[in-house]
Amino acid sequence: MMTCEAWVRRAKELPFERTRIELDELRAGEVLVELTATGICHMDVEAKDIVPLPAVFGHEGVGRVARVASGVQDFAIGDRVVMTYAACGSCSHCRERAPYHCDDSWELTFSGRRGDGSATARENGEPISAAFFQQSSFARYAITPARGLARVAPSLKIDDTLLAAFPCGVLTGAGVVARQFGFSGGEALAVFGVGAVGLSAIMAARKLGARSIVAVDVRAERLALAKELGATHVINAAEEPDVVARLSHLFPRGLPFVLDTSGNANAFQSAMRSLATGGRMAVCILPAPMEDFQFKPFELFKRAAALEAVSFGSAEAIRFVPEMISWYERGEFPVDRLVTVFPFSNLNEAIAASESGAVIKPVLDLRPQFQ
Ligand SMILES: [Zn+2]
Ligand SMILES: [Zn+2]
Repeated sequence: MMTCEAWVRRAKELPFERTRIELDELRAGEVLVELTATGICHMDVEAKDIVPLPAVFGHEGVGRVARVASGVQDFAIGDRVVMTYAACGSCSHCRERAPYHCDDSWELTFSGRRGDGSATARENGEPISAAFFQQSSFARYAITPARGLARVAPSLKIDDTLLAAFPCGVLTGAGVVARQFGFSGGEALAVFGVGAVGLSAIMAARKLGARSIVAVDVRAERLALAKELGATHVINAAEEPDVVARLSHLFPRGLPFVLDTSGNANAFQSAMRSLATGGRMAVCILPAPMEDFQFKPFELFKRAAALEAVSFGSAEAIRFVPEMISWYERGEFPVDRLVTVFPFSNLNEAIAASESGAVIKPVLDLRPQFQ
């Protein structure tokens, strides 16, 4: 049995605690990854209400393949990999290359166990939840299905800490634009809420040739960054008395595409009322604070508009992550502008900095010089 260091959350009101866990043996189709970096996403904090505790969180792991189980043909020890979101690999959605709609997505993401119900790790002999997104990357090692791994060519210079920004929030924001909305050039988009997801949508929209990109937020410094990353217009909702009127002045016929990542009821209303006839509004929201949104379905009906959930931006991660990396390598997708790196030992500090808005995308560095 192998043991390794990991961050465990024991109770909702407690911070993460550094401890040692005992890893299970690999099962067929699995890979053991030695982590070099991991992104931190809001779901790592919010999921404490969903995943049975104690639990190891983390779902944007990057590292090297340390061991492979039977049935794994595509990966070998030493391969540089990015761990992506969880999917079963065999349901009709997975077979049709739409793992973001996997029938078992919720269970595989939040149950804390493998698909077969077994635990991937224990603490002092007791099973704990350590298959968050089928990876639990806040640890030195993670057991993960090979089918969720995106390979990164050794020739690419991009640092592991930047790779760790890609698999969830950045994939989601960029995916909404590139895959869910399918931008090909000339579109108009408004993004409400410019955190990691919103800013990634803006970077992708610029990369794909959108004509107009509006950023709406209440934080002036985020709007300034949004402008640098591609927003053609910014609206500070804390200072603008009527966001809808301002948008309709800019776009008299309304906006064909709107992404709301704000989690704010007023922003949700404004976003919906800014839609053009036949427009599409995608909503990306966390389980907490679980604010109840009042809305009139007639606002959608009279615009013949569509309200859509966001699920990983409808992007097949093992293909879209390498595509975004190639955008970055060409200087067309400056994800480094979003990332702040912390040592592995500073998980709680990194989360606090993210929650306060001081940093946009925290990433933990697990390499030896960053203990
Ligand atoms: Zn599936
Ligand atoms: Zn996430």
